[in-house]
Amino acid sequence: MTRDLLVVDKVTKRFGGLKAVGGDAGLSFSVPEGTFLGLIGPNGAGKSTTFNLISGVLKPTSGAVILDGKDLSVARPSDIASYGLGRTFQTPRAFPSLTVLENVMVGADNEGETLLSVLRGGWRSRERALRAKAGEVLDRVGLTERINDVVANLSGGELRMLEVARQLVRDPRILLLDEPTAGVDPSLQAKLSRILVDLHAEGRTLVVVEHNLHFLLQIADSVVVLQNGELLSKGTPGEIKADEKVIAAYLGA
Ligand code: ADP
Ligand code: MG
Repeated sequence: MTRDLLVVDKVTKRFGGLKAVGGDAGLSFSVPEGTFLGLIGPNGAGKSTTFNLISGVLKPTSGAVILDGKDLSVARPSDIASYGLGRTFQTPRAFPSLTVLENVMVGADNEGETLLSVLRGGWRSRERALRAKAGEVLDRVGLTERINDVVANLSGGELRMLEVARQLVRDPRILLLDEPTAGVDPSLQAKLSRILVDLHAEGRTLVVVEHNLHFLLQIADSVVVLQNGELLSKGTPGEIKADEKVIAAYLGA
């Protein structure tokens, strides 16, 4: 058995009176290292909030999130990134006035590290290495021709790919993507699907939230289904597709 890289342990999150995640008992699931988990559920089910809890943007009301044995409820988002967790947001967050390349290089920067290499005089070689790495990940997501374009000129799909590149340049062990196919045309979706399959094959751990079930059920190892913040079902894509509760949640919504 592979060990769990991520453990969500009886987590709840309330916003005032609203139980956004976990209901009363708390939400629990775990992600073994190197596996690909899909997270689905109707609008408002708590998927993005769950991502915010895992990445430290929000702190749980109760329960714990453990990444590689470290309790994230006492860590800052910047610490969490340095533990090897990368994430994208449902609404892309790139810098619109910078170029594609600049966005990836900014994303790769870790302030403390940059300062250290300046002090050690290693800044130039670090920048060169970073430039090469940025070129590699941009090639991987198909944005090589856009490298010097300003981000404001990208299509919605290209912007999503840029967000993936900005995370990949940091070499995350676990990558969380929030609705990566939203606003992405079918050919770019197919490309994204291949990229995720490759990342998975390389041993990277993936957690992906999707509205597009067809996309996710073809490539994920296992799926967690949320409804009203609570776990409705979990299993392999085949089990999820056959689950009456899941079918009712989607058809009834
Ligand atoms: P999903 O991503 O599954 O569509 P969300 O996690 O965004 O769902 O939202 C779950 C519930 O929590 C929704 O009812 C939403 O309105 C509410 N919610 C999310 N973020 C906040 C917030 N910062 N303050 C108050 N309510 C929120
Ligand atoms: Mg969401």
